[in-house]
Amino acid sequence: MDKKSKAIVYLVGAGPGDLGLLTVRARELISEADAIVYDKLANPALLEWSRPDAKKIYVGKSAGQHSIPQSEIQAILLKEAEAGLKVVRLKGGDPFIFGRGGEEIEFLHQKGISFEIVPGVTAALGAAAYAGIPLSHRAFSSAITFLTGHEDPDKQALQLDFREHARNGSTLCIYMGVGQLPRIVSELLEGGLDESTPATIIQWATLPQQASFNSTLGKLVEDHQASEVSAPAIIIIGQAVSYPARNNWFAARPLFGKRIVVTRAREQAGRLTQLLIAQGAEVIELPFIKVETKFDPQTLTEVFAELAVYEWIVFTSANGVRIFFELLLKAYPDIRCLGPMRIAAVGRATAEAIEAYNLKVDLIPNKANGDALVDDLIENEGVESVKMLVVTGNLNRKTLSTRLENEGRAIVDTLQLYATHRTDLSDNPQAKRYREQGADAILFTSASTVQSFIEQKHALKLEPDARQPALASIGPMTTAALKKNNLTVDFEAAKSNLEHYVVETISYLNHHKNNQ
Ligand code: SAH
Repeated sequence: MDKKSKAIVYLVGAGPGDLGLLTVRARELISEADAIVYDKLANPALLEWSRPDAKKIYVGKSAGQHSIPQSEIQAILLKEAEAGLKVVRLKGGDPFIFGRGGEEIEFLHQKGISFEIVPGVTAALGAAAYAGIPLSHRAFSSAITFLTGHEDPDKQALQLDFREHARNGSTLCIYMGVGQLPRIVSELLEGGLDESTPATIIQWATLPQQASFNSTLGKLVEDHQASEVSAPAIIIIGQAVSYPARNNWFAARPLFGKRIVVTRAREQAGRLTQLLIAQGAEVIELPFIKVETKFDPQTLTEVFAELAVYEWIVFTSANGVRIFFELLLKAYPDIRCLGPMRIAAVGRATAEAIEAYNLKVDLIPNKANGDALVDDLIENEGVESVKMLVVTGNLNRKTLSTRLENEGRAIVDTLQLYATHRTDLSDNPQAKRYREQGADAILFTSASTVQSFIEQKHALKLEPDARQPALASIGPMTTAALKKNNLTVDFEAAKSNLEHYVVETISYLNHHKNNQ
């Protein structure tokens, strides 16, 4: 096939913002695409699903500038498709609802390029669902109307006559309307819609920063001026808005409106983030440390060839586990090559990473450190001159092997599989967001995360208007590290586990509202 006949563009709806609202098909296409052309309202976090080598082309407005003209976007789609790339055109919401999807397929059709369309959750549906508004209801609304304040976001001219939509009893969902609000409201009133009709404006629907207020048609302009709600926002007008059983469940979650910093590249960070998001928080993940796979190929080959001779294998981190099994299963695609060796893990998170391969962990010391492991190996397991493999990174101290070897308990081979580097946060987008907006709390999860925070202080200096965060500690060691650096600990988890940490965070932040 020549390049042109292979060319295909997928017009994919990216939904209103929440990453959970994309279709399975959309996620599949994003992860396979050679090129992704995306605009402002598609959540940029979606790009993390893409291949690292995929071309990512931003065609939205940047601050203070106009959008890239539609003709230019189309030229980009054509160029990438004709180069034989599998192109995903990501559009906020649904591609065919006020998204110029029609114009794009018309163009592709003219140029003889194939296309497919993947629908998305349009903003009105996302906003209504997350604000608990039933858009249709047997008792009060049997129609739903999607309207646009202006056909083209760059054009201020109002093209629709809203009077025509005032008397049909439908729930009105108005896109791109906040800039034209006074005219829209007066036309609806002129058209005969009662000023007591319930109305709401919802900004950044489905995202942690979702903001809204409730009003009536008659007071909407005034209430909007008094609010901080602005574009991008959906206006919803109709009896559905004041539906008695309406439950603003999304905004009612305990950490809604709270911005929380967690540190990344620690094995538990992903889970902590998930737990916080589930409670409604907006999470900033600061990647203090970067983990890079790094090993000596010769040593690796030797270790793998001799694997059967080890009586024990010790893993010191989840990263070590992940990289070890990736490499092992590439070399020998059968887990039985591990042989009958016993397995030890420093820490629960490391053990969980091993268990994910359906392997049983024989030993996890009570405390997550090398010394505790050595004590257990000697006292409980009675190891004596055993052959042992320790899988580590570059930061692991030598205590483990030195003590075991000095006491004649083990002959230790160390397999170093990765190196950790400090990241430069000055250009990191998450760190930038933290500097500009601040946070309600920073959740430190270990003494080393405190240390990294201190070392990166210059890149984390808050701007004057940013929220001042509370500093939180997961347990006594972390608290000691904060105090040693003269930092005040605002709260500490009663038990050192992530669930308790989240409960403590909810309790602290809900009792210290003036913090914001
Ligand atoms: N194709 C998109 C609409 C694009 S027009 C869709 O189907 O949703 C852009 C307008 O959509 C914005 O001005 C705003 O009115 C609305 N919009 C998009 N995302 C939104 C969000 N998360 N919250 C509220 N309104 C949103």
